[in-house]
Amino acid sequence: MSENEKENKNFIWNIIDEDNQSGVYGGKVITRFPPEPNGYLHIGHAKSICLNFGTAEKYGGGCNLRFDDTNPAKENAEYVRAIEEDVKWLGFSWKSLCWASDYFDTMYEAAQELIRKGLAYVDDQSADEIRSGRGTLTKPGTESPFRGRSVEENLRLFEEMKDGKYEDGSKVLRAKIDMASPNINMRDPVLYRISHQTHHNTGDKWCIYPMYDLAHPIEDAIEGVTHSLCTLEFEDHRPLYNWVLENVGFWPNPPKQIEFARLELANTITSKRKLKKLVDDGLVDGWDDPRMPTIAGIRRRGFTPAAIRNFCEMIGVAKANSTVDPGMLEHCVREDLQDHVESRNVVENPVKVIITNYPEDQTELLELENNRNHPEMGTRKVSFSRELYIDGADFMEVPVKKYFRLFPGNEVRLKGAYFITCNEVMHNEDGSVKELLCTYDPATKSGGPEPNRKVKGTIHFVDAKTAVKIPIRNFENLMTADENGEMVFNPDSLQETFGYAEPSVLSAEAGDRFQFFRHGYYMADSKLSKPGAPVFNRIVGLKSSWKPPKK
Ligand code: ATP
Ligand code: MG
Repeated sequence: MSENEKENKNFIWNIIDEDNQSGVYGGKVITRFPPEPNGYLHIGHAKSICLNFGTAEKYGGGCNLRFDDTNPAKENAEYVRAIEEDVKWLGFSWKSLCWASDYFDTMYEAAQELIRKGLAYVDDQSADEIRSGRGTLTKPGTESPFRGRSVEENLRLFEEMKDGKYEDGSKVLRAKIDMASPNINMRDPVLYRISHQTHHNTGDKWCIYPMYDLAHPIEDAIEGVTHSLCTLEFEDHRPLYNWVLENVGFWPNPPKQIEFARLELANTITSKRKLKKLVDDGLVDGWDDPRMPTIAGIRRRGFTPAAIRNFCEMIGVAKANSTVDPGMLEHCVREDLQDHVESRNVVENPVKVIITNYPEDQTELLELENNRNHPEMGTRKVSFSRELYIDGADFMEVPVKKYFRLFPGNEVRLKGAYFITCNEVMHNEDGSVKELLCTYDPATKSGGPEPNRKVKGTIHFVDAKTAVKIPIRNFENLMTADENGEMVFNPDSLQETFGYAEPSVLSAEAGDRFQFFRHGYYMADSKLSKPGAPVFNRIVGLKSSWKPPKK
């Protein structure tokens, strides 16, 4: 990475370094992660979490988890619990757990202060009238007929709004800034709206709720946040963020808003609203369906916190939006798992192999390594006898070009065992393969003297006598493009199949991960597995579609 790129990656840290030098915040760094509890967090939020908590950690500061609960209609306790769990699971701890709703009194006072300064007014126009009065990028807005109300009248009306005298939508409080501003956000934005809703925290105390643009800077300031990191779509709101803090005037060293690019993954939904629709439509098994790009979903699928944190570090923090290849996240998952999980032999689409020259009632125990890159992870015993299963993908009756696995007349190595040769294919009545009659060469045992010939293919096997059948769930992309290029639900995204496995796999507990040799990484599903009867999710396959750039 060039110095220039490094600098770009850390542009937020550069700003913080400067602030630390000038001493504006007394060398303190306080950040916050402020989700609205209106759904489960997704992989995009992971970027914000890693950035906010990671930045605070780097500077020895703190990061608050703050629920932006200013919109009671869409929020609930299940989402709150899920968000807390996700942040903890990613490996972070918050300095304080905060609620925007705890600050409603201060927000109300701030709004009164703005009114007193002649900087806010009560508007009786309807939402549509306000919208059309706002103008466009090329046309200035028009002033509301209620813009000239006196401070006294505004204070009284605002108080009456709070006291429940008016219906939803009949009045709003607006900032009085500039209806001709080139920045539409500055054309008298709405600060408070009426909503007769019971709030989970404040009950029926309030029937007016602050809008994001008023609430957010105040939340940050109350908590002593120094650097308020948010995504690029808020760049045009920054003048308003600063306007609020400056004009409310309660805080001497107001926080600084800094924008960074959202994380977008190709073919992946990163919007809580759209993810909620998949859940509500029953297309997935809840928010934590292993196909979902939610943190709960990828956790259930078997992704690790370390892999997600590495991924967020790799993508860096940029000022321009870009779309990231999901293969990069999967690469990070593989990189982490390859050093930590043990291998097991499992075959899918099993094909029976009979070793005709192996004694009928003999069984031997072969020693297989648990992780070929980590001898310290030890070995395990795998049984071998006359009848075996191999993977359907490892046999072709009529081999294609360059096929080096088993086919009639060919010899391959069974990993950790012997060379075998396929001599004859037995068929069922319908023509399908019933079993393969093979012979083995006792002189080729793994770990013994080097055989006098080489084979090109190595395949794996399980012993038919002891193999156990396990359910396996493989996944394709949850979303796919339709003929118009729109992202739509992929009905083939879940493929339920089964495999034959070495028997020790049955004792796997929910959350245990393995490499199924030559297939991929799998984890026992946390919801579907029962003691002695695990159900496995494929976390990722072994092959990577994404290659790290050359250094
Ligand atoms: P959604 O549309 O999914 O609800 P949001 O931005 O409205 O997303 P919030 O709950 O408001 O979600 O987000 C909390 C924090 O996470 C915000 O600071 C927001 O900027 C950040 N965030 C949300 N989505 C992304 C993303 N794709 N990449 C980076 N940060 C994100
Ligand atoms: Mg939102």
